[in-house]
Amino acid sequence: MKLLVTGGAGFIGSAVVRLAVSRGHEVVNLDALTYAACLDNVAEAAKSNLYSFEQADIRDRAALDRIFATHRPDAVMHLAAESHVDRSIDGPSDFIETNITGTFNMLEAARTYWVAQGKPASFRFHHISTDEVFGSLGAEGQFTEETPYDPRSPYSASKAASDHLVRAWAETYGLPVVLTNCSNNYGPFHFPEKLIPVVILNALHGRPIPVYGKGENVRDWLYVEDHADALLLVVEKGVVGRSYNIGGENERRNIDLVRTICAILDRKRPKAASYADQITFVTDRPGHDARYAIDPTRIRDELGWRPSVTVEQGLERTVQWYLDNEAWWQPLLARAGVGQRLGKA
Ligand code: NAD
Repeated sequence: MKLLVTGGAGFIGSAVVRLAVSRGHEVVNLDALTYAACLDNVAEAAKSNLYSFEQADIRDRAALDRIFATHRPDAVMHLAAESHVDRSIDGPSDFIETNITGTFNMLEAARTYWVAQGKPASFRFHHISTDEVFGSLGAEGQFTEETPYDPRSPYSASKAASDHLVRAWAETYGLPVVLTNCSNNYGPFHFPEKLIPVVILNALHGRPIPVYGKGENVRDWLYVEDHADALLLVVEKGVVGRSYNIGGENERRNIDLVRTICAILDRKRPKAASYADQITFVTDRPGHDARYAIDPTRIRDELGWRPSVTVEQGLERTVQWYLDNEAWWQPLLARAGVGQRLGKA
């Protein structure tokens, strides 16, 4: 398959690019290279003649039309987005422009190209989204594909809007789409402003490890390479028009996750006091969703997907990766105030 992957220099997009190229797919990586991007994430894949790169902004419709006409993809995997909830609270406008208007541009460019090709039934527009569109759960229950949307942050509202646009383009114009809504990812190449890298890097730098509220918020964690595997399965074999929830069935309270990371570091990089002594509770994020949990029955039963690692195995690998790859994360700390965010206590 020839895949047009948007956001392929980001965290999840780069995992998709690496896996797709390793499986023999041709990949065109379309990315604007915002503060969150890092082309080092795809340095190995870029050595392959299956890989090409287009620096373009999904807000630029003319650029998208040119890229579709030049590369003639069999499928689109649309991951490009502004993705950090805290940034969406501080300044929501980029989230509206990229996540909503940008997705609208991608849909229109894809539709124009698909019509010009004679509407091939095999074409796919795969929209990658989040479980945060479903809002917050109480102590019981899981999100299914039928759970009503109830987004509560500017980030999740912008992603919910983009999901609705994608479904509307399928209903109205017949564009062959598939959608996925996934739980929290973690793993190698995770940008240093997100929770798990913040915990690891603050621990290593002897700084306070910030935990929102009492750390009781529950998230369902998925190793990024397992997500990439699920995404390739859906773009190849998913039923047109259908959504698939993707999750690892690995629910953890934030405080337990942070303590697990500290315990791994205590073993791998011992010092006099436990890293857990650096945990500092900070004022909760406004509108902080209490609990997310995904019911992955559909993708498991229809497509046979299962995660390959438990959260403990994935965290072990992730911590080791950050210990081994300071050359990757050190230069990123200076970008766009990431260093200051890390130090926030
Ligand atoms: P990321 O922030 O690491 O990467 C986003 C990429 O998109 C970056 O390379 C950036 O340069 C690019 N980008 C941003 N704005 C762009 C624009 N206007 N034009 C072109 N490129 C642009 O994000 P991520 O964590 O890899 O998330 C990827 C996708 O997966 C997003 O759509 C996100 O909503 C979704 N998702 C993320 C998670 C998670 O836990 N991280 C979970 C479920 C779904």
